[in-house]
Amino acid sequence: MNDRVGFAIVGLGKLALGQILPAFAHTQHCRVAALVSGSRDKALRLAREHGLDDTRVFDYAGFDRLADHADIEVVYVVLPNSLHAEYTIRAARAGKHVLCEKPMAISVFECRQMIEACQRADRRLMVAYRCQYDPADRALRRLVKEGRLGRLKTFISSHAFQIEDTPQWRLQRALAGGGALVDTGIYCINGVRFFSGEEPNEIAAIQQSPLGDPRFREVEETVHFTLGFASGLRAICHTSYGTHRCNFLRLVGTEGWAELDPAYSYGGLKLRVAAAARGETAVDEPPLPPADPFALEMDHMAQCVREGRRPYSPGEEGLQDQRLMEAIYVSAREGGRPMRMEAADGGLWRGPEPAEPVPHVM
Ligand code: NAD
Repeated sequence: MNDRVGFAIVGLGKLALGQILPAFAHTQHCRVAALVSGSRDKALRLAREHGLDDTRVFDYAGFDRLADHADIEVVYVVLPNSLHAEYTIRAARAGKHVLCEKPMAISVFECRQMIEACQRADRRLMVAYRCQYDPADRALRRLVKEGRLGRLKTFISSHAFQIEDTPQWRLQRALAGGGALVDTGIYCINGVRFFSGEEPNEIAAIQQSPLGDPRFREVEETVHFTLGFASGLRAICHTSYGTHRCNFLRLVGTEGWAELDPAYSYGGLKLRVAAAARGETAVDEPPLPPADPFALEMDHMAQCVREGRRPYSPGEEGLQDQRLMEAIYVSAREGGRPMRMEAADGGLWRGPEPAEPVPHVM
């Protein structure tokens, strides 16, 4: 167990308790080494469950003392969005590598500061885009790369749910940085960039929030947006905090289409593929290996730390999504005006692909 990479989990909310801590049992290279929380009782109880003694429980004020424990190598930031930058920068200064939840931060400026802080400290920085490590997404990416769908023309996706009308950070601009777009719409943006391997050069968006709904005093309810790519690919996306749960994507090419439905859940993704090579009407539903994307993502981080490698989804991945989301908000404020985006080459900032084999589905 001790040659595994030790992770400190910062923020013990729904995602940490429901997904991340249980995922350690499915990892090959990771172990829980510390917990950071504002609630000492909760953290002590969880520490015991994970075989940690009381010296491995920290509060936010004591966070910098992580520096005293060399076996804590990675800090996994699972806090509300506006706290990601502060804890990433403090972690880098404490000599720790950082795995940061999405969205990476609440502004391009913060993303740049986080990248710089980790560079200066010579620490790895990875954004927790778990879908990029999910076998279903990787299988679909492989289909695209092998040209099975022909030339990509359209990506259609919706990621939405009805948010509860309760006091929560997701509805507060200062803590969330935005509404549905930064929480769920980001999956559509990251997905189309990942599958196509291309970066958008044009963006247009429309934003809606029902007047009088107390949930949307500070953040938006719905954003419809399109992303244009130099190849001719166009993404048409919908994200909302005010519709029934929606969670699918379809990628349409000249020689076939493929869809994931569900597309963005914590595992159990379903792939359907239609390809000209299989006939006009055939639709395959290839089986995929069961997987825990959180475990795969953390194992990738651990391997990058051990081998001194750049992560496959480094800080620049989060920065690029943040740039695009900021442009989406500007377009929406200006009534849907198309925004030209500066060319970016996503391939250049990535580290090597994860070591796990990509499922072959066709
Ligand atoms: P949550 O509200 O359940 O947990 C957040 C934790 O941060 C809580 O324990 C809370 O006590 C703590 N916290 C510390 N300082 C706080 C402050 N000033 N205000 C409010 N809370 C504070 O949230 P969550 O759903 O666990 O989300 C945490 C992060 O994970 C977010 O960035 C979110 O976008 C991301 N997330 C990612 C996925 C994914 O699939 N990768 C899924 C859900 C959430």
